Amino acid sequence: MRKLVAGNWKMNGLVSSLAELAAVRDAISGAACDVLVCPPATLIAQAAETVKGAFAVGGQDCHAQAKGAFTGDISAEMLADAGASHVIVGHSERRQYHGETSAQVAAKARAAWRAGLKAVICIGESLIERQAGSANHICQTQLKDSVPDGAVPANTVIAYEPVWAIGTGVTPTASDIAAMHAHIRACLVARLGDGAKQMLILYGGSVNPGNAAEILSLPEVGGALVGGASLKSDDFSRIVAAVKPS
Ligand code: PEP
Repeated sequence: MRKLVAGNWKMNGLVSSLAELAAVRDAISGAACDVLVCPPATLIAQAAETVKGAFAVGGQDCHAQAKGAFTGDISAEMLADAGASHVIVGHSERRQYHGETSAQVAAKARAAWRAGLKAVICIGESLIERQAGSANHICQTQLKDSVPDGAVPANTVIAYEPVWAIGTGVTPTASDIAAMHAHIRACLVARLGDGAKQMLILYGGSVNPGNAAEILSLPEVGGALVGGASLKSDDFSRIVAAVKPS
């Protein structure tokens, strides 16, 4: 199972930022993993042209409907038309700032599949939930409600992102990451069957060039979802290079 290192640019990036993608393209040839960058939707088409197939380009969110009177929204079909192959759904910032529920996230994942995109479905507990000892239960519930029936490794990637680790510079311990990934794997297999043994489970939350090698070598960690460090081509390329050939 080839790992995936994915970058989420969030609401960052102008046309001038495409130079960072060109630099990543040149730096990662021969990488031991697959690579995905999700720039703002305004840059997807130009990003796809810039990277010339050297790695994948994705969206950060999509609407559940294919088209219609939904001002400001973007459909999965539009992302695919612009050159995306993946879309992140259910990022904690969407859940927090836009009130997205797991049921809506599942609808977005189904929309991604309808458009031929791979859904990167994000889950993760808050700090209060972790401190209360309910992280496993929260993630299990989010998985149950956010991952639609029909999820298989070819159409779905899971991203475990503890909310308290996103953008904070704080990460769980290696053993906590490994334990949660084992839990997520068990939940996926119980629900979806043995096929889910091959489904990638990314870790996300303050991954940087200094901690990437350890995190990416943990059991059941199938790659990383990288926010802040994906904005700098050098940092992102070093994270990609931290994946060891298997
Ligand atoms: C993210 O937003 O998905 C993320 C993991 O951000 P950061 O790497 O900046 O913590």
